[in-house]
This record gives sequence, C-alpha cells and structure tokens, in this order.
Amino acid sequence: MERFIVTIDGTSGSGKSTTAKKSADRLGWFYLNTGAMYRAVALMCLRKGILPEDHQMVEKIARKINISFQNVKDTHHVLIDNEDVSVEIKTPEVTKMVSPIANIKEVRKILVEKQRKIANNQECICEGRDMGTVVFPDAQLKIFMDADVDVRSERRYKELKAFGIPAEIDKIRDALLKRDAYDSTRKNSPLKKAKDAILLNTTNMSIEDEVNWVVKKIQETLVSLQNK
Ligand code: C5P
Repeated sequence: MERFIVTIDGTSGSGKSTTAKKSADRLGWFYLNTGAMYRAVALMCLRKGILPEDHQMVEKIARKINISFQNVKDTHHVLIDNEDVSVEIKTPEVTKMVSPIANIKEVRKILVEKQRKIANNQECICEGRDMGTVVFPDAQLKIFMDADVDVRSERRYKELKAFGIPAEIDKIRDALLKRDAYDSTRKNSPLKKAKDAILLNTTNMSIEDEVNWVVKKIQETLVSLQNK
C-alpha cells in the first residue's frame, strides 16, 4: 500500500497541533507541523528586519531556510539550522507576522515543496491550513478541526503560559479571530474544509478524547483500505 497520509486542518487553537503530535506518537508516525515552517520564516524575517511587504526578501529567506523537526516522545522541537526555535516561533510578534507571510504565493510554493518532500517516504500526520485542500489532496484520511472561540482562546492562553510567554486572554481572542478571518479569506490556499474531510468539533473534548478519536479513525481507515 502507498504510504499513508492523514491531514489535519482547522482553525487556530482548535487543538490540531497537540492532537496531531500525540496521535503520531501513538502510531510511531511522523508529525509534520507546517504552521511551524511559516512561523520559522516569519521569525527569520523579524530578526533581519524584513517586512512582509518585501516579497523578494521574504522569498529569499524561505528558499534558504533550513528547517528541521525533532519528534521525541511527548516533545516536538523545531530547528532552524541547529538552533532550537520552538518557543521563539510562538511569541505574539511572530504570530502577528506569520499570516501575511503565509499569503505570499512564492513562499507557499517553496514551503509546500519542502512539505511534500518530508512526507514522501514515511507515514505522516500533516497539520496546517491547506493540507487536505492543496498539499495532499489524495490523503487517505482528512480531518478538519474547529471549536468554540472562547474555548480556543483559553487553550492558547494556557499554552503560552506554559511556554513562559506573557499573555492576556482578551488579546488572544481578538488575535485568533483576526488570524482565522485573514487565513480564510486570503487569495492563496485559504483555510477551508476539504470536501472529503471529516469535521471534528473539539469544544467539549479533552486532548485524550481527541487523540482517541483520531487514532480510531486512522485504524478504521487502514482496515477498510486493506479490505479493498
Ligand atoms: O498552525 P499555526 O498557528 O502555527 O500557523 C501559523 C500560521 O501559519 C497560520 O495562521 C497561517 O497563516 C499559516 N499557515 C498556513 N498554512 C499552513 C499552516 C500554517 O498558511 N499549512
């Protein structure tokens, strides 16, 4: 059978990253965090004082950047060259900058190529905004996650606190809504549910519930494909 790809797309803070990582851990599969790739480009632009409007310079960064992931059980590290930027890419400054950068067509083209290369020869859970619609349209299982905005804000607040990043819940809520609106209405690969994706509303679910649900769906899909 061809290598198995699961896509998880959805709104910010809906639980995608944690669920994708934990589900991949359980199965021994690779977790591909594509948001981190856009964030890494945004971080390098911030460090070099490059504005999102300067498409040529942002594209140059995207082309040159060397992003890698270290997926160890229960931890996920994002590296630029050999530097661990896992916490820095989560700061509000990077979060503010990432969406306009992700709307640059050429930047998407460069990062999508890197994403497909990573997923080329291993079982993967690929998480982002356009995984099911654009990057892996033939994925065997597609999931779209969403949750009530208050629940999403609370989760993001706790996540930032755990990273030691100062946070205010009202500001987080505003930023989440703004980012979702921007991501859903942008010209290039907007955030939307693929027609063949299953909707998972996580408002009343714990992380454990979400992981159980995803792993069960993957196992069911594997069985049904083997019986074909
Ligand atoms: O998932 P995360 O919140 O880290 O993503 C950060 C931003 O990166 C999103 O708001 C979106 O603008 C962009 N993104 C994207 N396509 C992806 C993943 C993330 O445009 N596949």
